[in-house]
Amino acid sequence: MPEVDEFDEEDILSDGVASDSDSYSPKPYRIQEIPSKGLGVVAAIDFALGDLIIVESPLLLFRPEGPTISSDLGAFEKLEDGKKEAYMKLDNVHPESECPPLVGIFNTNAYDVQESDHADSDDDPPCVAVFNDISRINHSCSPNTIRLWRASSSAMHISACRAIPAGTELTTYYRDPFLPSSERHATLLAIYKFRCVCPSCLNPAASDNRRLRLRQSRGRLADLVAWARVAPPSPDLLADTLELLALVQEEGLESQHVYGRVLRHLMCISYVMQMCAEEGEDDIGSNVEGEGYEGYKRMLRAWRMANGAEEVGVGRVELAEEEMMRVAVSRRRTGG
Ligand SMILES: [Zn+2]
Repeated sequence: MPEVDEFDEEDILSDGVASDSDSYSPKPYRIQEIPSKGLGVVAAIDFALGDLIIVESPLLLFRPEGPTISSDLGAFEKLEDGKKEAYMKLDNVHPESECPPLVGIFNTNAYDVQESDHADSDDDPPCVAVFNDISRINHSCSPNTIRLWRASSSAMHISACRAIPAGTELTTYYRDPFLPSSERHATLLAIYKFRCVCPSCLNPAASDNRRLRLRQSRGRLADLVAWARVAPPSPDLLADTLELLALVQEEGLESQHVYGRVLRHLMCISYVMQMCAEEGEDDIGSNVEGEGYEGYKRMLRAWRMANGAEEVGVGRVELAEEEMMRVAVSRRRTGG
C-alpha cells in the first residue's frame, strides 16, 4: 500500500522554521511562497486524520437570492478597512480587460458554500464566499483537507483528511476530483488560469481509470448487511475492500465520501470477522488484516466529525451499526 507521502504535493516541504511574524501567531499553519504556485498555506505542526486546522469567517459572502459582487460593488465598501486591505491583497488571475479587479479577486478566490448544515440541503443553491486565509489554499486533485461550511456559525472549517506532516502544503479542490482529468483541466484553466500538475493530472489515463473504479464502487459498498446474512465476510471480501482503500489512498481521495463508505465497510467486516473468530468459527479465519474493528471505527469517527457530524450523533450511529452487525451475524448462525 503506498505511503501517503508518495504524493508530490506533500514534497513541497519548507524548512519548518516559522518566520518572525509567525512566531507571534498561534495559528497552526502559515502562508508562504510555494514554488511555481505563488502563495499557499502550509501546516506548521503535524496533523492527524480529522484534526481541525482552520476555522474562518468569510471576508465577503453573497447569498444566492441576493446581489453578486458584480452587481453590488458596495458590499466591498461596507467592509472594515483591515478587511478591505486583506481582500485587495488576494490573488487575481483575471485581467482588468475581463472584469474590474474587485470582481476578478472574487472570481479567483470564492468558494461555493451551502447555507444550511443539514445533509438534505445539498440541492440548495450555494452562497459564494471569499476568505482571507482559506482562499489562499491551493488546489489539488488529491487534496489533503476537508472543507466544511458551518452555516450556524457562518464559518468555514478546514480539517485534515489524512496525516499531514508539518511543513506540508495544505490543499483543497476547486473542481470535483471525480471529473475526468480533461474536464478538470479545462475548467481550472478557464476559471483559475492554471494547469494542475498534481500526480493525478500528470498520469491522467491511469488516474481516470482508478477514479472511475472508485466511483463505480458505490453499489459494492451499499448493502452492508446482505453479505453477513448469507455468508461470512470471506477473506476475498476483505481483500476487495482493502483494494478499494488502497485506490482511495493512491489517488489521494480521502476528502471524498467514498473514503467514508470504504472505512465503514472495513469496520463492519472486521467486526464480524473478529466476533466470529472469538467464538471459534474457523471458516472465518482469525487473521484480520488491516486496522481491525477499533482501528477503522476510530478512523471513521474522525472522518465523520471532519465532515460535520456531532460527537453525540456519531456515537448513536456507531451503536446502531454495531447492533446491525450483531443481529446480522446471529441471523446467519441460526439460518434465520
Ligand atoms: Zn490535478
